[in-house]
Amino acid sequence: ACDYLDQAELMQRFGIDRSAAILSGASASANPGQLTAGLLSVAQARGAEIASPVEITDLAETGDSAALATREGGVLTAEQVVFCTGYEFLPVMESRAHRITSTWALASRPRIARPDWLDRSLVWEASEPYLYFRSARDGRIIAGGEDMDDPEAYRDPARLHAKARRIALKLRNLCGIEIGSPAYVWAAPFGNTSDGLPIIDRVPGFSCAHAVMGFGGNGITFSMIAAQIIAARLSDKRDPDEELFAFR
Ligand SMILES: Cc1cc2nc3c(=O)[nH]c(=O)nc-3n(C[C@H](O)[C@H](O)[C@H](O)COP(=O)(O)OP(=O)(O)OC[C@H]3O[C@@H](n4cnc5c(N)ncnc54)[C@H](O)[C@@H]3O)c2cc1C
Repeated sequence: ACDYLDQAELMQRFGIDRSAAILSGASASANPGQLTAGLLSVAQARGAEIASPVEITDLAETGDSAALATREGGVLTAEQVVFCTGYEFLPVMESRAHRITSTWALASRPRIARPDWLDRSLVWEASEPYLYFRSARDGRIIAGGEDMDDPEAYRDPARLHAKARRIALKLRNLCGIEIGSPAYVWAAPFGNTSDGLPIIDRVPGFSCAHAVMGFGGNGITFSMIAAQIIAARLSDKRDPDEELFAFR
């Protein structure tokens, strides 16, 4: 369920001066490093073997299994392979529907003065470019956005600091949060498909290789959908939503 807040209610409850907002209860936040470590340790406890670092450079199907070549010259075999390569598309699945942009983010020092509601809310301003922010348990503010339609812009160190200043200024203007100089700043390539949906499908020409790629900014939601679709496929079942995410 979600509520529509008009300008007056948005100002009264959150002190934000914008024409309207949608307030929904369906989001959650997590520390991504801890979340990933937790998932890997559960997988390990259930018998998964973790090999890292390994770069896969080639794939071939041999009878009813797959052979994977590694950068170091080794070969791994598996009955089924699932490539979860993020924004790096497999060469056989390069797609014109996928494009790489640049994005920036920062984390402030701990214990920044902030409105009480921010510790219970995640904020996304759907402007162009967008702004998102939340607080962390130690009172840091994590904020980001300022995307540019350029796959290389994130490499520019001067731009990194200019973008961080801009994000900090937007935070101050939107809800009066003063973060001073950030403790950390990042820039990264960011991949998006033209329709906003990821690709969750078989690798073309292979029966035992699958790919899960191109989550855009919605990794938490799409990874769950991908887990359901791929798990169904590996058990010879069909997920009713699978066509939405077919390779295109
Ligand atoms: C700035 C930013 C903010 C975001 N905010 C959110 C958010 O608020 N909410 C949300 O849900 N999502 C968010 N996302 C998206 C989310 O982070 C991603 O969707 C998620 O991390 C994807 O996870 P993954 O494991 O599928 O891929 P990744 O985490 O990208 O991991 C893929 C891995 O595969 C490796 N790899 C690639 N090719 C090969 C190969 N040939 N051999 C071996 N390894 C290979 C890569 O090196 C990488 O380590 C954000 C992303 C960015 C960049």
